[in-house]
Amino acid sequence: MSDAIEPKQEQPRSVVLDFDGTVTESDLLDRIALEFGDPAVYQEVEDGLHEGRLPLREVIVREFVPVTAPLEEVVDWVLDEAQVRAGFAGFVRGAQTAGWDVHVVSSGFEELIEPVLEREGVEVELHANRVDARAHGWRVEWRYPDDCEECGESCKRSLLPAGEVVYVGDGYSDRCAALASDRVFATAGLALYLTEQGKPFEPFTDFHALSETLVA
Ligand SMILES: [Mg+2]
Ligand SMILES: [Zn+2]
Repeated sequence: MSDAIEPKQEQPRSVVLDFDGTVTESDLLDRIALEFGDPAVYQEVEDGLHEGRLPLREVIVREFVPVTAPLEEVVDWVLDEAQVRAGFAGFVRGAQTAGWDVHVVSSGFEELIEPVLEREGVEVELHANRVDARAHGWRVEWRYPDDCEECGESCKRSLLPAGEVVYVGDGYSDRCAALASDRVFATAGLALYLTEQGKPFEPFTDFHALSETLVA
């Protein structure tokens, strides 16, 4: 018999970050749909989303149909325009060193997110949709499971890791996952929604502040 203490089986703890409008200062997915697509289509489907007539999946699929620019052109635009919130790379490294798994969960496209993460020099678990950038209209390859038990949509909740989850987000696609998380940092529309729902959250400003709260 050994006196060695069994290593305690610790629950994983994860920070789950939305990408557009959370890691980045502005929602690039929206801006691409507007600048490279058709503003009338964009407005029509966004109105449908906010009036509860259209699921998010259909909104994103439809707003990228009028986008016909080559992928490389849009990636170059993204790299010019994508400003990450202050302290992003330092936060990811500090959190990982402190034992957090860091995930990015996005309704956007891997093809547009990976170049930004690479530029920032961070390695995270990325869960996102994909896009086939066809010359006669981009075709979204939706990856999330359909019919979430809670919201009925194809949503991020099913991708939340096991164990303790801290969720950080700003928008519609974060709602259901945020309600299922242990601790939430929210800004913009997500903060309004959680206030209406009576779900406690802390305000999200930038990654320096998040580091001070979670890592320091
Ligand atoms: Mg967002
Ligand atoms: Zn859901």
